[in-house]
Amino acid sequence: MSKTHHRVAVIPGDGVGTEVTAEALKVLDAAANRFGFTTERTEYDLGGRRYLSTGEVLPSSVQAELDGHDAILLGAVGTPDVPPGVLERGLLLKLRFDFDLYINLRPVKLYEGVPTPIAGLTPDRCDMVVIRENTEGMYTGVGGVFKKGTPLEIATQESINSRYGVERAVRFAFDLAAERRNHLTLCHKTNVLTFAADLWQRTVNEVAGDYPTVAVDYVHVDAACLYLVTSPERFDVMVTDNLFGDIVTDLGAAVQGGLGMAASGNLNPSGDHPSMFEPVHGSAPDIAGNGWANPVAAVFSTAMCLAHLGHRDAATAVEVAAASVLPELETMGGPDMGMSTAQIGDMIAERVSISK
Ligand code: ATP
Repeated sequence: MSKTHHRVAVIPGDGVGTEVTAEALKVLDAAANRFGFTTERTEYDLGGRRYLSTGEVLPSSVQAELDGHDAILLGAVGTPDVPPGVLERGLLLKLRFDFDLYINLRPVKLYEGVPTPIAGLTPDRCDMVVIRENTEGMYTGVGGVFKKGTPLEIATQESINSRYGVERAVRFAFDLAAERRNHLTLCHKTNVLTFAADLWQRTVNEVAGDYPTVAVDYVHVDAACLYLVTSPERFDVMVTDNLFGDIVTDLGAAVQGGLGMAASGNLNPSGDHPSMFEPVHGSAPDIAGNGWANPVAAVFSTAMCLAHLGHRDAATAVEVAAASVLPELETMGGPDMGMSTAQIGDMIAERVSISK
């Protein structure tokens, strides 16, 4: 039995983050009414605007409050005046590490009516999920610099791969594959990264014994990029490390029709801390304020949040309703979309309300 009341923290953020989050919340309300649960929401002003006005990125009191919620919905953070890295390290990566959000869940699904840059690609050939390990690899900040600014300068950036960290990501991926089409692909670089990739490969081989129904495959990350473009039907669930996952999933976002489509979840599957759901896109300062942002990625992220909270029927209804609007759009975002951000949100919310 899923709970029927949820405390949800909302971080609309900057730029189009605030615009798409408003629509995601409309849809969340419609789903709550339709499927009989309630949400109690707290909004947090975090992101570029707050940093520029107060110098604060994530005060520890705010982090403690966030931790008391069941889930976090994030729009997008970033403004052109904030130096790169401040919000990424101080907010997004900090929450990933401190809340142990060790799974980054990134569906790559081409929906009906969405233009893809891959000629001839049809939706039946593109429906996969990338499981990106989210707390280790190259993103831990382990490394250093020696003789900085001199001709003899040396910089190192190390990839951290613990058996514990790899195994929990791999097990999550196997569980998901067992619920889907029973196919798991490890994506790494065994031919060059002989220490890290060996740990990943051995872990996959050992864990595979617990999942006899799941077929296991392997691709090098470079080949994975090629196949994602030429034959995405090869993939059902892909598991990979933090850096490779970051890169491969942006390619996936392009294949599935762009940033207006790409949703993500940063999960703590144990439930010890709230999981965080966000569209992949940034704050898009170039279009902010015009009602030109496509809110569908934010809505898909909300669907993932609902599934995580145990409301699978509501999640499916939200995904179906959002997907049904896509063929009615002229473009997948920008001035020629044919509908405003708010009109799209209204339409999805209405379709959720009457969903069967
Ligand atoms: P960041 O560093 O925060 O990711 P960015 O500018 O590199 O910022 P985005 O903000 O995601 O990346 O924007 C990339 C491009 O995609 C921009 O041209 C933007 O207008 C467009 N874009 C992003 N999100 C959307 C959306 N929801 N709907 C339509 N277009 C979008």
